[in-house]
Amino acid sequence: MANSPRENLAHWLRDAHSMEVGTLDDLRRLASRIESYPQLKARIEQHIRESEGQERRLKELLESMGESTSALKETATKLAGNVQALVGTFFSDEMLKNAIATYAFEHFEIGNYRALITTAEQAGETRAVSVLQQNLREEEEMARWLEQHLPEITRQYLQLDASGHGGKT
Ligand code: MG
Ligand code: FE
Repeated sequence: MANSPRENLAHWLRDAHSMEVGTLDDLRRLASRIESYPQLKARIEQHIRESEGQERRLKELLESMGESTSALKETATKLAGNVQALVGTFFSDEMLKNAIATYAFEHFEIGNYRALITTAEQAGETRAVSVLQQNLREEEEMARWLEQHLPEITRQYLQLDASGHGGKT
């Protein structure tokens, strides 16, 4: 059976919505466990607020396209599992590993939004393009922040671990 770009767009927007719901779960859990890395915690808390906006934007976009959003919650639960499987170290004891996993996950989101933008362009859905670009920008900024701060988080981790006072979380 053939699917038009418009049909694929609607389908993948639902997947992206699920991805954001899963992200929110993971990031909230992660933020609540950070003890020794206040900067990382603050940035993740900021990204939780951004992700809440992304989730809302995707839902509003689907509604504006005349797509039903009543089944969105169910899909979210299903895909959240896949996302967690991808980022297998997300619930690691060590915050350094979690920061690296988050960095990887942001790139998963970036890849998804890039494919969605191309699909929206092909479908001629210009409103979708601009909404998706906004989400993409926030993922890129989060990935960039992590890239810039991973050396510092690593040094801090090593220092805390060498002092024998923990610091893994
Ligand atoms: Mg996101
Ligand atoms: Fe993100």
